[in-house]
Amino acid sequence: PGPDRSLHTATSRDGIPSQAAHRLRRVAVLSVHTSPLEQPGTGDAGGMNVYIVQTATRMAERGVAVEVFTRATSSDLPPSVELAPGVTVRHVAAGPFERLGRTELPAQLCAFTAGVLRAEARQEPGHYDVVHSHYWLSGQVGWLARDRWGVPLVHTAHTLAKVKNAALADGDRPEPRSRVIGEEQVVAEADRLVANTRVEADELIQLYQADPAKVLIVPPGVDVDRFTPGDQAAARAELGLPPHAVVLAFVGRIQPLKAPDVLVRAAAEMLARQPELRERLVVLVVGGPSGNGLDQPEALRALVAALGVGDVVRFLPPQPGPDLARVYRAADVVAVPSHNESFGLVALEAQACGTPVVAARVGGLPVAVADGSSGLLVRGHHPVDWARALERVALRPGYRAQLAANAPGHARGFSWDRTAAALLTGYAEAAGAFTASLRSAQ
Ligand code: UDP
Repeated sequence: PGPDRSLHTATSRDGIPSQAAHRLRRVAVLSVHTSPLEQPGTGDAGGMNVYIVQTATRMAERGVAVEVFTRATSSDLPPSVELAPGVTVRHVAAGPFERLGRTELPAQLCAFTAGVLRAEARQEPGHYDVVHSHYWLSGQVGWLARDRWGVPLVHTAHTLAKVKNAALADGDRPEPRSRVIGEEQVVAEADRLVANTRVEADELIQLYQADPAKVLIVPPGVDVDRFTPGDQAAARAELGLPPHAVVLAFVGRIQPLKAPDVLVRAAAEMLARQPELRERLVVLVVGGPSGNGLDQPEALRALVAALGVGDVVRFLPPQPGPDLARVYRAADVVAVPSHNESFGLVALEAQACGTPVVAARVGGLPVAVADGSSGLLVRGHHPVDWARALERVALRPGYRAQLAANAPGHARGFSWDRTAAALLTGYAEAAGAFTASLRSAQ
């Protein structure tokens, strides 16, 4: 009921009654361009990897086995690896193992698809109940697998070329038309499209003409066992930061879309306004090079030098979860200045650690951050606006404490358990509808 009637809002459902009804046993997850075994925060590995690991693990805990197909990127990799009980990663040979960029992958999709279909053909008929593809490259593979296996295709875009191209950072290259066409095909062919937020659902419907009845809104989660509030002083000591520093952090892949330069420019603006801050200001930039901006860390370092803030900016390599929690705890504010973000897991993780977030008012970030309650949203990317917002939180201890107190509660409103349960419900519904449509076609 209500205005969202045309959408399958699985957000508030817990438990998976319909799963039993449709006897879901095994899901094929397609993740062509990046492996759930990779460390997120660099290259092509980011939120999607975390999403797949977290949801697959929790689905397996609920008795549904998950097999993730990904491209083999080294000859040393075994054909399959058990990521967690009930979760298997299958490596598919498609093209040379190393030095094959994401933009070269469309030419390898046939090889990848052949590998996936052959793996299934070695199993008993009906091995998979559903195929869930992540990112448009996988969607292309899933489209064929769906038709061959007679199971529904559930697709998550993670990013959309039309949305990305409408919010390009200076110097960033637009996504090619071939990707837009490929996405349009997947949107048309998938049985269910998973969107993180209502905003993303509308993008699918308005920009890609998705059938609203196919769109399922499923918010992502946050690992609240790993990302917990903790002692800021201890975290700073472990990172070698002074206890009374003003610490601003950027966490994520270093690419134009993520806009770490906005934080650096804002820090320079803060120092221009308050030179005495130079003694205390620390800007942490955590993550590795990525995307079409493999030169970005160098460009960012050049910007840091040009703005004269080399003494306050510290670069850290991608951090695994437990170390990342330490970074979040050490920071007064985590900045998420992205030009676009379909959700922004970093924002949730920082808040789960009790750290307020200053984020761009784009994409899913207004859902990830409760404006004025657990952090602040900033319109646009002007360094003066960002400096003001960062100062407002980082330099006013009372206000910061208020936001910090609210942040973990806001983050706990999201949970990977609920995400996994909602996906399973969506799979079961899609399987039921798929079977019914096959029957009526007979
Ligand atoms: N991440 C990490 N270590 C790092 C930087 C990032 O493990 O040094 C993880 C982070 O915990 C988050 C993910 O990478 O879960 C990034 O997800 P987000 O949605 O913020 O951005 P995306 O990569 O999807 O664009």
